[in-house]
Amino acid sequence: MLFKLKQNSCPETSFYSPVVSRLVPYVPGEQPKIDKLVKLNTNENPYPPSPRVIAAIQLAAQQGLQLYPDPESTALRQAIAAHHGLAAHQVFLGNGSDEVLAHAFCAFFQHGCPLLMPDISYSFYKVYCGLFNIPVEMVPLTEAMCLDVSAYARTDGTSVAGVVIANPNAPTGVGLPLQQVERLLRLHPQRVVLVDEAYVDFGGDSAIPLIAQYPNLLVVHTLSKSRSLAGLRVGFACGQAHLIDALERVKNSFNSYPLDRLAIAGGVAAFEDQAWFEQTRRAVMSSREGLVLALEDLGFKVLPSQANFVFARHPHHDAAAIAGALRARGVLVRHFKLPRIEQYLRISIGTPAHCDALVQALGSVLAALA
Ligand SMILES: *Cc1c(COP(=O)(O)O)cnc(C)c1O
Repeated sequence: MLFKLKQNSCPETSFYSPVVSRLVPYVPGEQPKIDKLVKLNTNENPYPPSPRVIAAIQLAAQQGLQLYPDPESTALRQAIAAHHGLAAHQVFLGNGSDEVLAHAFCAFFQHGCPLLMPDISYSFYKVYCGLFNIPVEMVPLTEAMCLDVSAYARTDGTSVAGVVIANPNAPTGVGLPLQQVERLLRLHPQRVVLVDEAYVDFGGDSAIPLIAQYPNLLVVHTLSKSRSLAGLRVGFACGQAHLIDALERVKNSFNSYPLDRLAIAGGVAAFEDQAWFEQTRRAVMSSREGLVLALEDLGFKVLPSQANFVFARHPHHDAAAIAGALRARGVLVRHFKLPRIEQYLRISIGTPAHCDALVQALGSVLAALA
């Protein structure tokens, strides 16, 4: 049978799978191509990676790029497992933790019932739910922007697909004590509780030591923040072997080689240079303490942060106006036009010089707005 396409009655989107038109993609923070900006909007580490990482990448570039990388990234899994006191089969690697999260949502949360997450959290979680058709139930943080574990209990007998939280939370920076994470794990023993610890190395408590005890715990980490490797794209998940197996099944149904040879070599070297890691994360934490005091001097209310950023609001000035005025002075911070947090600014911790530039610029911005 001849099927005649009418040229103009067919919008370009008719080529799409139905889900594509419904997607609400994540919008990353601005990565401007302008020099000399003080860039405090995407939580990158202000310090470069260890020189040993650069050397390892250079060496890897000279050797074997014509060959596929190890599909299991064995060397890096072993390095990460050794660092965290786990076995290599308890570690799963991906092209950035965003990819690890996507595979986890696909592997664990497609049960047709809602996935529980805080109303204020990493906005990519909801995006994955759109991609995988997972219903979402947002659980409000308290007035003080803290996670209230009892609000995650189900008393009406209905089922949930699982729980996802960031700890420390993003974009608030507020940490959840480990006993509370354990309460969450015990509330839903039949479902995976995913704890995204992207910022944990800046002062939070990792749930990784709980893995042996909880078969439903999956902890996700990234090398993008505390290891200064946002540009290399390496993230990982830790959990008991049955969870890692599920992630492997999804990964091997999607891309056998998510980590290239440079990423594997650079990642291994990053875990070998523990001194660099300690020095840079401590420098960030110490700048954070100074910046919090300076912001409070300027009248800001700053949430307690265990991350490499602070979340702050000014009682007398509009956050979007401050962000715009800062931008005009060459300082980028992140503003989310979202319910409950539209009067907050998320400010990444830079070098001491970046922090000084921010505080100076804020001083004149606030004076001009007054
Ligand atoms: C930055 C961030 C990630 C993504 O990290 P990549 O490894 O760079 O993909 C994941 N979760 C949270 C909460 C983050 O802030």
